[in-house]
Amino acid sequence: MDKKTRITDYFGQNVFNSVVMQEYMSPETYSEVRAVIDSGITLGIDLANRVAEAMKEWASDMGATHYTHWFQPLTGSTAEKHDSFISIDKQGNNILEFTGKNLSKGEADASSFPTGGIRATFEARGYTVWDCSSPAFIRKTKGGGVTLYIPTAFCSYNGEALDKKTPLLHSMEALNREGVKLIRSLGMQVERVIASVGGEQEYFLIDKKDFNKRTDLRFTGRTLFGADAPKGQEQHDQYYASIKTRVSQYMSKLNHELWLLGITAKTQHNEAAPSQHELAPIFCTANIATDQNQLIMETMKKVAEKFDLTCLLHEKPFANVNGSGKHNNWSVTTDSGINMLRPGTNPGENALFLLTFTAVIAGVDEYADLIRMSASNPGNEHRLGGNEAPPSIISIYIGDDLELVMDNLCEGNKGEESLKQYINTGVNYLAELKKDSSDRNRTSPFAFTGNKFEFRMVGSSATLSNPNVMINTIVAEMFSRISEELLSVSAAERDAKVIEIVKRLYTEHKRIIYKGNNYTKDWVREAKKRGLNNIDNCVDAYDVLVDKKNIDLFERHGVMTCVELQSRREIYLEIYNQVINIEAKTMLLMARSEIMPAIIKSKKELALTINQVSNIDENFTRVEREQLQVLSGLFNIFNNELVELDRVYLAASKATTCKKRAIIYRDQVVLTMNKLRKTADAIEVLIPKEFQPYPTYADILFYD
Ligand code: ADP
Ligand code: MG
Repeated sequence: MDKKTRITDYFGQNVFNSVVMQEYMSPETYSEVRAVIDSGITLGIDLANRVAEAMKEWASDMGATHYTHWFQPLTGSTAEKHDSFISIDKQGNNILEFTGKNLSKGEADASSFPTGGIRATFEARGYTVWDCSSPAFIRKTKGGGVTLYIPTAFCSYNGEALDKKTPLLHSMEALNREGVKLIRSLGMQVERVIASVGGEQEYFLIDKKDFNKRTDLRFTGRTLFGADAPKGQEQHDQYYASIKTRVSQYMSKLNHELWLLGITAKTQHNEAAPSQHELAPIFCTANIATDQNQLIMETMKKVAEKFDLTCLLHEKPFANVNGSGKHNNWSVTTDSGINMLRPGTNPGENALFLLTFTAVIAGVDEYADLIRMSASNPGNEHRLGGNEAPPSIISIYIGDDLELVMDNLCEGNKGEESLKQYINTGVNYLAELKKDSSDRNRTSPFAFTGNKFEFRMVGSSATLSNPNVMINTIVAEMFSRISEELLSVSAAERDAKVIEIVKRLYTEHKRIIYKGNNYTKDWVREAKKRGLNNIDNCVDAYDVLVDKKNIDLFERHGVMTCVELQSRREIYLEIYNQVINIEAKTMLLMARSEIMPAIIKSKKELALTINQVSNIDENFTRVEREQLQVLSGLFNIFNNELVELDRVYLAASKATTCKKRAIIYRDQVVLTMNKLRKTADAIEVLIPKEFQPYPTYADILFYD
């Protein structure tokens, strides 16, 4: 029997990974590079030149003709500008050239990317700077070129971040700094603390032919009209169901492409809504996981084309069936391999678990507004608070068992004894907690799942950067406060201090712990009583970026400056406005050029029938007349709402500031759009199939 190719035979083949590096570099160069990657030492120009040479050689052997600095501007997607390796030397000969300077730094015109006012006060020039901790890779286009991709950060001439990566790297550095300090303050040795992230990605796949016929999907990524199909997801027959052949072929190809890129695509399954699916890779370092998630999204879209499918990453492509999210699994690990969120059995590490665990709880409570903000984008507005995704109120689920344990520990002397015993000996029921026991509440936005926290509010199209910037920074802040306290006491008093801190933090922030169903109205009331904030729309959520408490936090940890935060708020508002503007325009267009003609045709057909049949006998046209009346009535309402949409849309365009415009969009345009849609959907079911202007939900969601 022929030996089949194994995944391991080609996994990471397109990545400039440690195996390739060792092949293309001298042992000295390799160990210097490793030090730069692992310990964050600055990269000198001499080493950069040697790395660039190795990269160029490898990439050229792989058939690459071009390289690109690959970055993540504030639009939320990725950007690339390709340069070829071709150059001319002093003698006029053609050579391949790629220097340390080319590798480390690139220049890009920042003026075409959103900068939120930063550029206006400085220069138009922007720079891309190599993030050497995320591996370079090559990508091939079928029948086209091969390009070396170099993951980079993107900043302005004066160093302000113009991208999603820079703050993430800064936040990881803050977490590292404060995490190391915390561990050392417990008398343990450690060199580095690293945030790990695993992102589960939901998506829809639909037939490309249907996609092409839907103006709304093409321009906005979601359906702006569409009556429910007779069947939705009520039978729960899609979740984990056997995967149909075409989708299965798609998934195999997708996995293959991802494995070549060194992405550990691990799980795949059908999701709750018809035509909805999920993919999750194995977790890794936060910035790499974020880069990989961008590649996963891009690859999902590209591979779909090969199967005449379209991959939809919008948070809510279809009304009344589930939308798509992205679960952000987060933990923090030391360079010695200790997961600080694992309730351990080793004395010493347990104090670390308790402190880390309560630090996250305290941080998420104190900075719940930032956590909420990090899951805010226009698409996610349709999910948060719906009966499918966590609401806009942040709460934490730690599991019944753990909650009981924490309550006992924090109340009275008996608890204190167990806490002491746990820290000193590791023997305690805490260590015996099963992972499963904490993974029951799928309605929780922020759940402790055994050895990590799972943030479930993030939208499917969003970058993983924002949530992790927030989590890393707020945990760094709590670590910093805790280590300051620990350092104020002697080694002998340390255990008592740990207990005091854990008890205090847990008691002070317990209000954020919630084990009930987050989707209910009761919880909204209860949360209000507890004083938890409920920012129920993204326009308001963006404001928290410029809240003094939050600016102080980011500046204190060197993650973002006040100017950067202001510019981000501005850009997010602009993006919101653009999205709603495009949606409103698309709706107006479809209403006039697609739906109206279909209604008119249907009316005409009815009228002709009524006329002709009435010639025989008037009584024979009773149903047709009723039908015409209903249709005409709805058409009038439709037209009035259309005029209203025109009016509010115009009002929005006249608003003098970004925020004012966003408020009109949110409070007037979106509401009118919803009304118009409702009427159009009521009309859709009255239109004969042959006059339907576009594929219906039934056509799109239940394709072969
Ligand atoms: P589920 O949420 O479906 O129960 P899993 O336990 O398989 O899923 O985990 C989902 C994601 O969480 C995967 O990407 C996985 O690699 C990641 N993950 C697992 N352990 C950790 C960890 N310690 N830190 C961060 N992510 C993790
Ligand atoms: Mg999960």
